[in-house]
Formats: sequence, C-alpha cells, structure tokens
Amino acid sequence: MDVAEAAKKYLVYPLMEICRLHMTHMVDSYPERVFAHALRHGYFDLVDKTAPKTLNWNAKEAYETLGMRNFVVWVLYREGWLLVRSQLRTLVIPVVAHKGGFTDCDHWDEFYDEFIDMEMVALTSWKEQFEKMVRELRCSWCIQRAGLLRNKVDGVVQMHGKLASELAKSV
Ligand SMILES: [Zn+2]
Repeated sequence: MDVAEAAKKYLVYPLMEICRLHMTHMVDSYPERVFAHALRHGYFDLVDKTAPKTLNWNAKEAYETLGMRNFVVWVLYREGWLLVRSQLRTLVIPVVAHKGGFTDCDHWDEFYDEFIDMEMVALTSWKEQFEKMVRELRCSWCIQRAGLLRNKVDGVVQMHGKLASELAKSV
C-alpha cells in the first residue's frame, strides 16, 4: 500500500491533501502513474489533466498499472481520440472560392496538412493549436475555409473525444 492509499484508508485528510499536491507536481514527469492514482481515488481533475499525456502508453503496461476496470476507461478514452484523428482525414470541407474563382491555394494545403498531421496528444487541445495556426494563415479566403473546418472538427471531437473522467463515471 502506498502512502496515499494508507492515508485514504485511515482517513488522514491532511496527509491525503499533501499526497494530492505531490501528485499534481508529478504530472509532467510521471503522467501515467499520476493518472493511475487519480483514477483509483476519483481525483477527476487530475484524471483529465494527465489523461492526454497517457495516449502513447504501451497497452500492456497500462493494463498492469491500471487494473481491469480502469484499463477499460483508458482504452475507451484512447479509442475516442484515435477515432477523432482518423475521422479528421475523412472530413469534406466545402471550398471557398478565392478572387478570380480559384479554389486551390497553397496556403490551404500547408495549413490543412499541418492540422491533420497533428499528434494525438496535441489533438486533445486542438482548439488552441488551431487558433494559432489560423493566425498564421496569410489568405483571407482560407481563413474563412478554416472556420468551416473548425465547425466540423468540433462536431467530431464532441462525438468521440470524451473526457477520461466522464468515461470513468460511466464504466
Ligand atoms: Zn487561400
């Protein structure tokens, strides 16, 4: 039994709080361990903070660390983001005619390729990345088209990109 578990078992609240703070500071170095611990104890804010950083976790290791029930939560979480990533590639984005009626634009190709090649971990905070990329777009028609893409991506993420805490509560 680790200290945090002992603290919880014997209801030593101040100690639990210290452990929780300690865990918060370990998020960047040991996200998987913190995620496992947070799931076990129902620290849902910490679950959601660490979950994106576990997306490249080896499944066997995840299973051994999480145990059956929480492994299911993690698999469903990862599955959702895998689906988001694969569906991004199938989206049909209406074209926006540029001056002179052109529909092809190098600015768009560059923007779009960068977006759909985004790593799964980065995808979990796609809005920030997306806005940053739009700010770098140097074509007003492509910026309009990016708005259409944003709505579609939003739909896909709402459908499949669940929070790990939501899944934990429903499994
Ligand atoms: Zn353009």
